[in-house]
Amino acid sequence: MPRRFLVTGGAGYVGSHLVAALCDRGDTAVVLDNFHIGHRRAVPDGVRTIDADLSNIAAVDDALSDGPWDAVFHFAALSQVGESMREPLRYLLENGGNGMRLIDACVRHGVGRFVLSSTAALFNAAGDDPIPEDAPIDPNSAYGESKWMIERALRWASQVHGLRYACLRYFNAAGADPQGRLGEDHRPETHLMPLAIDAALGRRPPLVVFGTDYPTRDGTCVRDYIHVTDLAAAHLLAFEAMEHGDIRWNLGNGAGYSVLEVLQAVERVSGRPVPHVLAERRPGDAASLVASAEPALKAGWQPRYAALDDIVRTAFQWRLAHPNGYGN
Ligand code: UDP
Repeated sequence: MPRRFLVTGGAGYVGSHLVAALCDRGDTAVVLDNFHIGHRRAVPDGVRTIDADLSNIAAVDDALSDGPWDAVFHFAALSQVGESMREPLRYLLENGGNGMRLIDACVRHGVGRFVLSSTAALFNAAGDDPIPEDAPIDPNSAYGESKWMIERALRWASQVHGLRYACLRYFNAAGADPQGRLGEDHRPETHLMPLAIDAALGRRPPLVVFGTDYPTRDGTCVRDYIHVTDLAAAHLLAFEAMEHGDIRWNLGNGAGYSVLEVLQAVERVSGRPVPHVLAERRPGDAASLVASAEPALKAGWQPRYAALDDIVRTAFQWRLAHPNGYGN
């Protein structure tokens, strides 16, 4: 049966891939976005958009009053670890504060289910063991802290008001829609994979490798890259699975790759060298973040683009086809 969802941040990177997945299965998505970071061209034709900032309570109330909603998917957020270390209070206020306002509005409007775009930045693992859902929470950045604020608020909303929730902690979202409809276009771009691809294509300066003295196999940070389409699929599954209770899922492939290994993958896929320079650590970065995604896998999640080269390939093809991303 077709369902109806409100997607905050549906014009952003992961949000737009979820909106495409919802449309593909015949569901109705309504996108609420302030379009500061998101792109209008990332929203499929025919999908209704509401131009609003989450700090505008009247606009959020107005959107939610046009129910019923099967769920709210909440993606809208600032998402840069580095920036959050320069402007921590902005992250706590905008991500944490707006997230809580949205939860409050959902409770007031009788929304039954809430799916949060959360993050591996909740964890600050010392070793390179895969991180399970119940690993100690110890955000290394204000970005991670801001998402933890929302997770905690959801716990109370569930306990006291019966709002069902799913916290989906993405490890490193990467890649692009395999059908070529969507891709990654942050401005400014700060993420490793698109920067490495553009460096290989000669469209950007050499990639700066942040830190070579981490306690990892080659001294650079290790991350678990997960395809954005597989993340979208996990959201659809979580929506079904939360019928049986609240959810906290770590979403990754369970395999870590160092920054230098990602550069090698980009070189294999593109057939070009990735010019790069070695530099100091970036504040806020944990040494190694690798997911143990067991509960999601047990619930039936099957990542389809788990191989690093497959992830890089979809990202590379999109950058090649869209030198200016979504344009200006
Ligand atoms: N990174 C890097 N150079 C860059 C961007 C990122 O060395 O220009 C490293 C970064 O320090 C981290 C990894 O690549 O260890 C992934 O960073 P990204 O910003 O893509 O995602 P994050 O892990 O911060 O969510």
